[in-house]
Amino acid sequence: MIRKELSEVPEYVPGKSVEEIKRTYGLEKVVKLASNENPYGASPKVFEALKNFRDFHVYPPKDPIELRERIAEYVGFPEKMIVVGAGLDGVLENVFKMFVNKGDVVAIPIPTFPYYEILAKIYGAKIKFLRRKENFETAEFDERAKLTIICSPNNPTGNVENFEFVREVVESVKGIVFIDEAYAEFTEKRLTKLAEYENVIVGRTFSKAFGLANLRIGYAIMNENFAREYMKVCPPFSISTIAILAAIAALDDIEYMNKAVKKIVAERSRLEKALGKYFRVYPSEANFLYVEAENSDEVCYELERRGVIVRNLKNFRGVKNGIRITVGKPEENNFLLKALEEIF
Ligand code: PMP
Repeated sequence: MIRKELSEVPEYVPGKSVEEIKRTYGLEKVVKLASNENPYGASPKVFEALKNFRDFHVYPPKDPIELRERIAEYVGFPEKMIVVGAGLDGVLENVFKMFVNKGDVVAIPIPTFPYYEILAKIYGAKIKFLRRKENFETAEFDERAKLTIICSPNNPTGNVENFEFVREVVESVKGIVFIDEAYAEFTEKRLTKLAEYENVIVGRTFSKAFGLANLRIGYAIMNENFAREYMKVCPPFSISTIAILAAIAALDDIEYMNKAVKKIVAERSRLEKALGKYFRVYPSEANFLYVEAENSDEVCYELERRGVIVRNLKNFRGVKNGIRITVGKPEENNFLLKALEEIF
């Protein structure tokens, strides 16, 4: 009975949890640097905004207009061009629902975030995997593609795409270009401006820099007509009032977010240098670092049993010997470095 497309769909494998590792190895202290979460958490204004929330029995609004207005102000595009979803994952799913027919070409540069491939397979798309250069910038595109994905900064490699190259892609392809800027706040080199093009959709999230991963709230900038159609495919009430209130409060405290980002970016440089002693480390514009180790399985295992969870990328298409390490707080990063010193 199950659609045959699903037989081709790989399961999404998340980073291991702290509880799991504590139990497996009987450890008391475990540091998770595997899911690109923000170690500083949400702004105190978020806690304040939710403190008196009681309306658990009431449906959320269908269209959180105030939040869309605040996002519009934040990204510098009109409110009519802003849509929201249950995480950027939810936004992505809606975008696939809008555009991808069975047999359409979906172009995905690899390595990248695995959920694009999962969605493309669910929708029965023909996937064209695009090559990257040595520095992981996308090296080609396919004019025929109905949907081209550009992830910048790219998960898991941390690099940004060249603005002029992406503009060329946007101007050359027949279809839509989805620019995933989940990690936009960690870089100055953004592609957001390209949302001015009618065939471009820029996706963002509150999960990373704003520290709201658990509340599942993301958004996208797209042309007004698309935004109207988006409302048809978006499941009703997919974002809770709690998430809406939290996101608004987070936008009320950009200063808090900027401070967290600044600390993470400073730690990113320190960690990049320190990890160079053990691995080939690539420069990053996100809140994680991509490293290559000949014996990546062994390294991940040895770290795990010392209480450090990193992301072994062996299931990521197009990755060889790669490990992704989220930048944590200074003491978490020191814990990682101490473990590495012991292992090596
Ligand atoms: N895009 C990229 C590149 C990501 O790394 C993530 C989070 N892992 C997402 C989208 C989804 O983010 P969320 O659904 O939490 O907003």
